[in-house]
Amino acid sequence: MKKLTVNAMSATYDILIEKGILKDCAKYIGSVVRGKRAMIITDTNVAPLYLDKVKDELENAGFETYFHIFTAGEESKHLGTVAEIYDSLSENEFTRKDFIVALGGGVCGDISGFAASTYMRGIDFVQIPTTLLSQVDSSVGGKTGVDTKYGKNLVGAFYQPKLVLIDPQTLSTLTDHYFADGMGEVVKYGCIRNAELFNMLETIDIKENIEDIILECLKIKRDVVVEDEKESGVRMILNFGHTAGHSIEKLAEFKKSHGECVAKGMVMITKASESLGITEVGTAKRIEALCSKCNLDTSCYYDIDTVALHARNDKKGSDNNLNIILIDKIGNSVIQTIDKNDFAKYLSK
Ligand code: MG
Repeated sequence: MKKLTVNAMSATYDILIEKGILKDCAKYIGSVVRGKRAMIITDTNVAPLYLDKVKDELENAGFETYFHIFTAGEESKHLGTVAEIYDSLSENEFTRKDFIVALGGGVCGDISGFAASTYMRGIDFVQIPTTLLSQVDSSVGGKTGVDTKYGKNLVGAFYQPKLVLIDPQTLSTLTDHYFADGMGEVVKYGCIRNAELFNMLETIDIKENIEDIILECLKIKRDVVVEDEKESGVRMILNFGHTAGHSIEKLAEFKKSHGECVAKGMVMITKASESLGITEVGTAKRIEALCSKCNLDTSCYYDIDTVALHARNDKKGSDNNLNIILIDKIGNSVIQTIDKNDFAKYLSK
């Protein structure tokens, strides 16, 4: 088993990674929670695959279990779904001592974590991410929240889980599309902080080595989050490729995966920073090639000014400024604050 400890300012918790760890989930959960009652939150895709397993494990260990299943997909990531979770918790008389288990991908973790952070002003929660994207990225770091009609993740809280359990075996039930989605973030980690990881990804069989890859990504995520839990500084580097990526996601009406849009964003911004003399020549080509190995299409079909215009509404910018993340070479990122109106100069097709 691989273990990482996250020593965030607000909480300390472990991330445990092991193939088949689902069958031991009760033992690990039991060591971090106070209560004996668990609300398992999962979606319509994941429930038929893993709900019974987690439920049985918890019950065999003496926990009382309840579950709440929501419709799979980003469309469920709104306050209405959270309100339904509050109702399930209330109807089953959950108290502050009881806890939530988020079993699923990024949407599940985000809404369950937000429900946990607000129900009775905060109850314990445990993350069991089942997609590559949530295993390498969203289950760690404490960002929880929902979308509103005005944009993604506009309402939320920083709220750390008590534990993150990662079973790479769950990745075997992912479609190629969802696997590639997670790889977009994996490539990002190599770009921003770890040239060795990037080199490794270029050469090895990715699926064969996925457990080590997850670990390397989470080490970066852990280090960055511990340094800057609330995203006022270095945590911004995790947004590499995301400013343009989010615009493309919106322009594509969310029909392209997050990972694919991030891949497009990373390539667009790196091509531009190369021609501006900021980035080592050949870097964009390497990112493009690695993304293509990961089945991520990096071509952008939208006009640069349109992509830039959408980025102006990004909540991460303050005043007229926009913080953009560039890399000067593979493995090293730099944060630049620019005028929002100049963003188009940092994009190239
Ligand atoms: Mg992301």
